[in-house]
Amino acid sequence: MVAFGPQKVPSHIIVCPFCETCLPVPSDFDAVYKCECGACYKVCSINAVEKGVYEIAGELWTEEELTFIQNVPVDVCNIVVEKDFDRLLSLREASDASLLERFFKYNADEKLGLVWVKRLI
Ligand SMILES: [Zn+2]
Repeated sequence: MVAFGPQKVPSHIIVCPFCETCLPVPSDFDAVYKCECGACYKVCSINAVEKGVYEIAGELWTEEELTFIQNVPVDVCNIVVEKDFDRLLSLREASDASLLERFFKYNADEKLGLVWVKRLI
């Protein structure tokens, strides 16, 4: 049996929904982050998930490919939206003052989510 002390549980990580790799919580909300499996993720408002997906798509596909993708009626990617990212963030906020600074860029009433996109084609 493994004993988990409070300091042994990594509380400030996110887990890739596609490959289950543990990754650090994004600290730059404007950046698109990459997992080693090729999936990309980004913090965005729950009310603007489509915008977030579009920004990630710009990282995953070239402009030419995007034009093609927008014209074909097939699923070209898997999208996962984690809606409880806000809760994770407030956990981390309590222990990381530098993140709090960034958080103020955003409307406090806006609920943040974590959007994951992985290419299928
Ligand atoms: Zn991954």
